[in-house]
Amino acid sequence: DDEWGQRQGCAVSVGETMSTKLNWLYAELAALREQNLYNTIRTIDSPQGAWIVVDGKRVLNFCSNNYLGLANDARLKQAAHDAVEKFGVGPAAVRSIAGTLSLHNELEKRLADFKGVEATISFQSGFNSNGAVIPALVGKEDVIFSDELNHASIIDGARLSGANIARYTHNDAEALEDAITQSAGTYRRALIVTDGVFSMDGDIAPLPQIVEVAERHDILLMVDDAHGEGVLGRGGRGIVDHFGMHGRVDVEVGTMSKAFGVVGGYVAGKKEIVEWLRQRGRPFLFSSAVTAADAAACLRAVDILEESTELVEKLWDNARYFKTEMQRLGFDTGASETPITPVMLGDAQLAQNFSRALFDNDVFAMAIKYPTVPQGKARIRVMISAAHSREDLDKGLEVFGKVGRELGVIKEKI
Ligand SMILES: *Cc1c(COP(=O)(O)O)cnc(C)c1O
Repeated sequence: DDEWGQRQGCAVSVGETMSTKLNWLYAELAALREQNLYNTIRTIDSPQGAWIVVDGKRVLNFCSNNYLGLANDARLKQAAHDAVEKFGVGPAAVRSIAGTLSLHNELEKRLADFKGVEATISFQSGFNSNGAVIPALVGKEDVIFSDELNHASIIDGARLSGANIARYTHNDAEALEDAITQSAGTYRRALIVTDGVFSMDGDIAPLPQIVEVAERHDILLMVDDAHGEGVLGRGGRGIVDHFGMHGRVDVEVGTMSKAFGVVGGYVAGKKEIVEWLRQRGRPFLFSSAVTAADAAACLRAVDILEESTELVEKLWDNARYFKTEMQRLGFDTGASETPITPVMLGDAQLAQNFSRALFDNDVFAMAIKYPTVPQGKARIRVMISAAHSREDLDKGLEVFGKVGRELGVIKEKI
């Protein structure tokens, strides 16, 4: 756009003087646009569900992490309403001063029961949970063994801790063991960290093998189960339950913003680890907690998951159906083992064009490009939900087929 062109790389007049101090930034932003890596953020004007209103247009929603459809569930909304009536809208202080509500404590207790751990502590988000727990467990004299595809919040938490970071090959327990052997004797304490489900590929960490390595070397093991909760395991109890590894993973990080449909995060594990985070978890000590409405809605989500496995089963039925049909159409759905369905395209521009054409046909699915995924691994990521009906999925398949043929990604039907 015009204003952009004028400002890019030029001195900007500020009062009487010419300022050049932000020229680097104008150039960076222009470069992102040129390389098709500029993030255009769409605005939603409806509740989250199978269909949403995006930039004024009603579209089939293949973007959200609302795995179970709880983000607009009437029961959660009622719980939030009731909590607002009883507690008001704001927590008014950080939890360690005057901001811990009975609802926060109740939620922590219920999450501990749900996950089958001794205790949990809740935070404002999954992102903050990683920023809290990693620096509380390791520091400058220590080492973190981290899967190379771990989530950004794990990477940031690890950096914040000041520990040495040893990245190992994605989902490779042998590479992990090699890294541990190589750094033997060079550190005080160690922590192994992995995502449970990897959000861009939908593959699952080989937890039993990683647990074995961790136990053999007596190293703390932490799993971020953000995309596993409400999805994997009995009734959505997560990756530890999925593999039957209860009691063998020291720390689990979770989020309430995905399958649970609300917002917030938590750390689960031994009661002493949780106790330590109440003393040393900086986001707990220095930032206010989620509101009463959030906590109450989360509690209701836990009730629903404990009452019935229906939503989790619907999610998996939908995911299996969609993935099988996409493969039948000729699409490459990568290494996914979960409802996260990447549609591998390679080129960033192709992914961008594909996403735009889908949108023109009333289907909302994001193009995922570098730096979120490696260069040359651009894709459309489809997020399947229990909120989708079979009709919705068929509509999505029809549009993917049409756009895929138009853009030469799949062949014409013979
Ligand atoms: C989404 C995600 C988070 C962040 O969760 P929020 O609650 O949205 O902050 C953390 N870790 C992983 C692995 C995630 O996928």
